[in-house]
Amino acid sequence: MSFKNILGHEKELNILKNAISCGKVAHSFLFSGPAGVGKKLTARTFAGALNCRDFKGEACGSCRDCRMMEAGNHPNLQIICPTDKDGDESPEGLIRIDRIREIQNALRFKADGKKAVIVDGADRMQPAAANAFLKTLEEPPEGSVIILVSAHATELLPTILSRCRKINFRPLPEGVIADYLSGRKGLNRDHAEMIARQSCGSISTALRSLDDAGGRKELLERFIRLTPGDVDGALGLAEDLSRSDDLEGILESIKVWYRDLAVSTLGEARLAVNPVAAEFAAREDRRFQAPWDFFSLVEGARRDIMPPRYANKQLTMEALILRLIEGGPASMGPGRS
Ligand SMILES: [Zn+2]
Repeated sequence: MSFKNILGHEKELNILKNAISCGKVAHSFLFSGPAGVGKKLTARTFAGALNCRDFKGEACGSCRDCRMMEAGNHPNLQIICPTDKDGDESPEGLIRIDRIREIQNALRFKADGKKAVIVDGADRMQPAAANAFLKTLEEPPEGSVIILVSAHATELLPTILSRCRKINFRPLPEGVIADYLSGRKGLNRDHAEMIARQSCGSISTALRSLDDAGGRKELLERFIRLTPGDVDGALGLAEDLSRSDDLEGILESIKVWYRDLAVSTLGEARLAVNPVAAEFAAREDRRFQAPWDFFSLVEGARRDIMPPRYANKQLTMEALILRLIEGGPASMGPGRS
C-alpha cells in the first residue's frame, strides 16, 4: 500500500504524510466526501504508514509490518463496516453495538506501533453503537488512531464530528478518472472521457459503469423509453430498479439525464454526457419547463432509500417513476417524443 497508488487528493495526502513525519497524528479522523473517491483506500494506506518501521514519506513496503498490512492480517488494523461477522449485510445494514464493544476490547491492550481502527460507513452506526463509540473518542486509548469514513458525514452525531480531525475528499477531477481508465484499463480516450463525465468524480462509479454489473445501461434505456400513461411499464421498471444492486448508481444516471436535458435545451448540447438526451431535447419542440425539479425528485428518492431513512425501495421507486412520467411538477415525461 502506497500513497502513490491513490488517485488525486494531493493536499489531503500531504496533511496525513506530514502528520506522521512530525509525529503529530490526531487520535481520531473523519474522512468525509462522496462515495468511491478513495477515502477507505487512503485510510488503509495511512494505517499502514503509521505502522511501518521505516517510513520516509511512504511506507517502505518491505518491513514485517508493511508485509502484514499488505496481506490484510496485521493485528494493529481493524476495519468495521455495516456488515455482520460472516460478511453478510446485517439485517438493519447498521453497525451494531457488539462490534463497537469488540473494538473497544481490542484497543485496551497495548501494542507495538499504532493500533488503527477504520469505521467504514460511520454514519451507519446504531444509536447505541454511536453512543458507546463516543466514549472511545472522548478517552482515546494510548497509541491508537481511529479513522471514521463516511459519505454522509452530516448524519453523524455532532458530538462525534467535533472530536475528529476532518479531512474532506472532493470528487476526483474528470481528467484524473479519464487518465486512469485509459492508462490502466486500456480504454480508448473518447470512451474513457465519456465514462469519466458520467461518473460524478467517483472512481468506483466509473468502474461499475464499465462492467455494468447492476444492469444500469439497460434500466436507464427502459426509463428513457417510458411514455406518459405507461403505468405498467413504470411499475415494472420500479420493481426492477428496487432489486438492482446498483440502484444508487442508476439514480445518479437518471440525474445526469435531466442535467443533460437542461443543458441541451439551453442550447449547450455539446455539454451533454448522454448524446441521446441532446437528440431528445432537440426533437422536443417546446422547452422543458423544469428539468431541475425532476432532478430534485430523483435526489429526494435517493435520500429516502438510504440510511438512516431506509424507505421501502419498491414503493419509493414506484412513486418516483410515476411522478416522473405523469407530469410531476411540470409536464415533462422522459419518454415524450
Ligand atoms: Zn515498512
